Amino acid sequence: MDLQTNRLSTIEDKPLWSVTAPERPAGTPLNTDLTCDIAIAGAGFTGLRAALALAEAGCKVAVFDLGDVGFGAAGRSGGQVNPMLPVARPGELLEAVGGTYFERMAEVSLGSADELFDLVRRYDIDCDARQHGWIRADHSPAACELARAAARDWNRFGAGFEFIDGDDVKRMTGSPRYSSATFSGKGGAVQPLALARGLAKAAEQAGAIIYAHSAVSDLKRVDQRWIMKAAGHQVKADKVLLATNGYTDELYTGLKNSVLPLTPVQIATGPLDEEEIGPILPDGQTISDTRRLIMYARREPNNRFVFGGIGFQKLLDRVGGHKWLLKDVARVFPSIRPGSWRFRWSGRIAITTDKVPHFHEPAPGILAGLGYNGRGVAMSLVMGRILAERALGADPHLLPFPVTPIRRMAFRDIQTIGAGAAMRFLRFRDNMEFG
Ligand SMILES: Cc1cc2nc3c(=O)[nH]c(=O)nc-3n(C[C@H](O)[C@H](O)[C@H](O)COP(=O)(O)OP(=O)(O)OC[C@H]3O[C@@H](n4cnc5c(N)ncnc54)[C@H](O)[C@@H]3O)c2cc1C
Repeated sequence: MDLQTNRLSTIEDKPLWSVTAPERPAGTPLNTDLTCDIAIAGAGFTGLRAALALAEAGCKVAVFDLGDVGFGAAGRSGGQVNPMLPVARPGELLEAVGGTYFERMAEVSLGSADELFDLVRRYDIDCDARQHGWIRADHSPAACELARAAARDWNRFGAGFEFIDGDDVKRMTGSPRYSSATFSGKGGAVQPLALARGLAKAAEQAGAIIYAHSAVSDLKRVDQRWIMKAAGHQVKADKVLLATNGYTDELYTGLKNSVLPLTPVQIATGPLDEEEIGPILPDGQTISDTRRLIMYARREPNNRFVFGGIGFQKLLDRVGGHKWLLKDVARVFPSIRPGSWRFRWSGRIAITTDKVPHFHEPAPGILAGLGYNGRGVAMSLVMGRILAERALGADPHLLPFPVTPIRRMAFRDIQTIGAGAAMRFLRFRDNMEFG
């Protein structure tokens, strides 16, 4: 690959995770009509976590995905386990959800990383889980001031953020570009496709059935039950969980337009020699930064390096942003050689206006949880658990998430059409500050 001409021909278009995850037999479509207690659309973290809890509670659960387990963001993500909603300050969360839910949401989000690692231990999931901490590096002195004020605020609610400066930041990150950072010891990393497959296995062992290549459609209410189609067959269920996040289609009226899909992009190297990777993230933490269009990166135990950012949908299936990643990684981690990249991929996340995940119950027996704003590895597992609790009859007023109506996102069409231009503008501002 030649960085000057931006040729990417030696890079495979698939997630690194698809070659390093433990094998799982290819999923098969639904091949007969089916009646179940609970049907779940989406075999990502949200849907699989819900399926596990519901099957353990004795429900007859069927999970459907338009691809296979982890086909969506779950199997393509950066796998960073970040114990924080992306709202900058506690005041923003308070404004978004009000006083009652503020404390509950702060508690579940700050506890979400621990919840994930506990789950992995409980089910003995083989997914390279490691809780070595998360470094959030400041891209400018102004960003440092803001990040520190926010971290001090969150620490009043038990976040446990620490601050690092100067040589410590350079040593811990291995990047010459950052002089200050916030550190969370609760953060960590998983191999995300391995986690999805491990959750699927645990859910199946508890009795759930997972159908691949079985997009759910034509959902309607008939005689107190929900009837839908999947892979050309009829499915009847008492309750339906919509766990489709950034891949949400027209399955339930209005849900697609309640969020804005964005397209993060990633690249990964093959195993690198010590000279190339040696100084980078030597203690195994994950890193992201404070830019508006953030970068996030991790070093794998076998010395592969994974680097990500925010891309954009160009035309239909074409995604833009990988060329930018190659330029950006050259300035943030200059020891990585341009020819070392082996994989590139992208996926879809769901953005909400208030930056918090949304929990909906738009009709009796329909539940939806989505909108993790790019911080969903840990939060989607919390959401899946809560969706299951509600489906099992938990009082809706006592949940950590407020049950809100599905609302169309303001200016969604303009934001969708203008995404490329908006990103260029945000990148320009980031570059002015980051250099
Ligand atoms: C490139 C990338 C990097 C990321 N990095 C991080 C990170 O480092 N840390 C972090 O916290 N978060 C990260 N995220 C976000 C995180 O991955 C998501 O928030 C999380 O995976 C959401 O899980 P989910 O199960 O709700 O959605 P998904 O995993 O997207 O699953 C939704 C599923 O629904 C299926 N589906 C859609 N419609 C239908 C239908 N009609 N019928 C059947 N199935 C349907 C899709 O096929 C898909 O598999 C990243 C996302 C991407 C794309």
